[in-house]
Amino acid sequence: MDNRWVLVRKARVFAPEDQGIRDVLMGAGKILALSEPDALSSGSFDVSVVEAEGRWLVPGFVDALTHITGGGGEAGFGSRTPPMRLADAILAGVTTVVGALGTDRHGQSLGVLHAECMRLRSLGLGAFMYTGSYHLPPVTLTGDVQRDLVLVEPVIGVGEVAIADHRGSQPDVSGLARLASDAWVGGMLSGKSGRVLVHVGPHAEGLDLLFRVAAQTAVPLHRFYPTHVNRNKGLFEQARQFAQQGGTVDMTASTNESLLQSGEISCPAGLQFWMEAGLPVHALTFSTDGHASLPVFDAQGQVVGVEMGRMDSLHRALKGCVQAGIPLETALQPITVNPARILGLKGKGSLAPGQDADAVLLEPDTLNIAGVWIAGRTAVWEAEQYIQETFG
Ligand code: ZN
Repeated sequence: MDNRWVLVRKARVFAPEDQGIRDVLMGAGKILALSEPDALSSGSFDVSVVEAEGRWLVPGFVDALTHITGGGGEAGFGSRTPPMRLADAILAGVTTVVGALGTDRHGQSLGVLHAECMRLRSLGLGAFMYTGSYHLPPVTLTGDVQRDLVLVEPVIGVGEVAIADHRGSQPDVSGLARLASDAWVGGMLSGKSGRVLVHVGPHAEGLDLLFRVAAQTAVPLHRFYPTHVNRNKGLFEQARQFAQQGGTVDMTASTNESLLQSGEISCPAGLQFWMEAGLPVHALTFSTDGHASLPVFDAQGQVVGVEMGRMDSLHRALKGCVQAGIPLETALQPITVNPARILGLKGKGSLAPGQDADAVLLEPDTLNIAGVWIAGRTAVWEAEQYIQETFG
């Protein structure tokens, strides 16, 4: 495999809607054409042809929350999580990441997060970031949330700001409303989403604070984008109400047995419930929370270890959804077109001429990944990595 233009022939294309059998031409970082089989000829161009008959081509996965620089661990410096590597993303079909700081705004910094975004972009990965952290008042790059959004191109919103969590700064209605307005105006001026990604912790108050902001101020619910809403049943019920009132919510795909046993709702179960309840699928996303530390509990609820959010959790969630009988084009929405639209990531999340050439080829029987393209370049083929980082 090399990095010439690529013609993927006779794949069944899910864009994410089912488009049937198509030939897809990718070059100069973009999808150039999506046509009936055999309608395209390579002509005078040097094109690498991929025979994909019997396989499914889907948009590259868009991850709305990844700790790309790693993060502070919850059990001291020894439990700090490592930065995400390119391989972590591409081998798992993730072609766009949105980085966030999280709990540790001291041992990590927005400057490093910005540099890491640009490094990943230089390799062809889609990379964006949130300004701020768990904490209010927010840390920023330029001294001001609005200025970060207007002047720093990869910054698309603020987050993840923590509520209902002992690790947050316990924001109040006016503080959160002010932040959301600042972010929204910054987004208006720069043509970005300007949403506030909200980390929702395990405390019983859940989304109460966001509902209070919407009821008591001029800030509507949809300015907030709460994540981890599958943490427990009570919070998931609030998320349902949030979506019914026009909001969008994010479920965390990284999980483990102990979290599921303690009441966490898996992404497939969540999407199934969402559909059965007639809730809008366009208002739901899954993210990896990649490289965040995940506590492991014993039967008595004591923390006995720490794991890390995994970049392959979106792919696992997709498999789980399809195994549960959810149509592929529906199961793809929370990991492709929905996060791209909600976060205003232009060129991302769908397969169409003019969109960025980020795509994943799946085996239809197993949904295993056969190939991945980022910015039109072959990143993965038959489980082998074809784009390498400068320093291995
Ligand atoms: Zn979080």
